[in-house]
Amino acid sequence: MIPSVLPTYNRAPIAFVKGEGSWLMAEDGRRYLDLGSGIAVNALGHAHPALVQVLTDQAQKLWHVSNVYTVPEQERLAGLLTDQTFADTVFFTNSGTETAELAIKMARKFHYDAGHPERVEIVTFDGAFHGRSTGAIAAAGSEKMVKGFGPLMPGFVHLKWGDHDALRAAISDKTCAVIIEPIQGEGGIRVVPDQCLKGLRDLCDETGTLLIFDEVQCGMGRTGRLFAHEWAGVTPDIMMVAKGIGGGFPLGAVLATERAASGMTAGTHGSTYGGNPLGCAVGAKVVEIISDPAFLAEVARKGALLRQGLESLVARHPQVFEAVRGEGLMLGLKCKPAPADVVKVGYDQGILTIAAADNVIRLLPALNIPDADIAEALTRLDQVATELEKAA
Ligand SMILES: *Cc1c(COP(=O)(O)O)cnc(C)c1O
Repeated sequence: MIPSVLPTYNRAPIAFVKGEGSWLMAEDGRRYLDLGSGIAVNALGHAHPALVQVLTDQAQKLWHVSNVYTVPEQERLAGLLTDQTFADTVFFTNSGTETAELAIKMARKFHYDAGHPERVEIVTFDGAFHGRSTGAIAAAGSEKMVKGFGPLMPGFVHLKWGDHDALRAAISDKTCAVIIEPIQGEGGIRVVPDQCLKGLRDLCDETGTLLIFDEVQCGMGRTGRLFAHEWAGVTPDIMMVAKGIGGGFPLGAVLATERAASGMTAGTHGSTYGGNPLGCAVGAKVVEIISDPAFLAEVARKGALLRQGLESLVARHPQVFEAVRGEGLMLGLKCKPAPADVVKVGYDQGILTIAAADNVIRLLPALNIPDADIAEALTRLDQVATELEKAA
C-alpha cells in the first residue's frame, strides 16, 4: 500500500524534534551534529535567537497580504539585496525551482522585447541542478530527472561540464542565456574556476547572451563571500537565490539588472505567497547578519579550518576518502565507498552529511558553526572512516 506521504524520497528512519545551533535532537533523544543544514538552508543554524525573535514579532503583526498591495518587508529586503549586489531589482519566490522559472521567463522576454523572438535557447551544463519544476528539469536535463515526464519544455542545450570549445560552438543567434552554478551542489561540489566564469562573462558580452548564475546553494555567504561569483570578480545579469536566504523559512529571490529585467512589467509574473511578510522579515535579518564583512571573514576562516581537518582525514583514510573540494563552508569529500553508505555510517556516529553526485558527500554546516563543533565533526568523520575500514 502506498504510504500516506507520497514516497518520492529515500528517507532515513530518523525524525527530529528540536534543533539548536549545529545540533539536532531526534525523537529517541539522540543528538546529531548537523553538517547538512537542511541542504544549506539553515545558514545560521537551528533556532537562531535573532531569527526566532523576528519571526515571532512578525507573526504577531501580519503573516500574509496579497501582492496586489505594497509590502514594506519586501521593499526592505530587496533594498538590502540591491545595496549588496550587482542587482537593481528583486522578485521574491518561495523556493529555488520558482527562481529558475522566472529566470527563464525573464531571459526570453528580454530578447523578445529587443526584437529577437528567435533567441530562446538556454545553455546549461551536465551535473547541473536547478529544481524540480518542469522548466527546471528540462534545464538540467539529466536522464534521472526527466525520464517519464516528457514532452519537456523545448529550447535547452545541454553541454559537457568544462568543455570550452563546445560552449563557444553552442552559442548561436538563437541563444538566449546561459545558466550555471558557480559551484555545483547536487553535482558534487564542482567549483567553476574563476578564469572560466570570467571567460563565460566575456563570451556572453560578445554575443549578447544573458548570464544567469544559480546561487541557490552556493550563495548567501556559503563560500565566505555573500555570493560565490564575487570571488571571480564578474557579475551575472540574473541570479537565482534561495535555500540559505530564509535561514529555514521558505524564501527565494531572483535578482537582476534593470536591463535584464526590463521586460517584466505588470502582469508578466506573479506569486500568491512569494514575498510574504513573514519570509521577508526573516530574510532581511538573515541578509543583515550574513552580509557583515566580519561574519563573512569568519565563514572563510571556519571553512579553512574544516578543510585543513578534512585534508588530514583524507591522508589518514585513503581507503575511504579521496579528496576535498569546494570553497568556504561548501565542502565535498570525494569517497571511495558509495556516498550513501558513508552518510549512513555517519548516522550511526551521530553526524549528518549529504550525498551528492560524483561520489561525493557534502559538508554544508551552519555558517556560524562554533570551532568546537568543527573539531567534533572531524572526530566523528574519523570514526566514520574507521568503521568503513573495518567493514571493508
Ligand atoms: C536546491 C537547488 C535548487 C532548487 O531549489 P528548491 O527550493 O528545492 O526548489 C535550484 N538550484 C540549486 C543550485 C539548488 O541547490
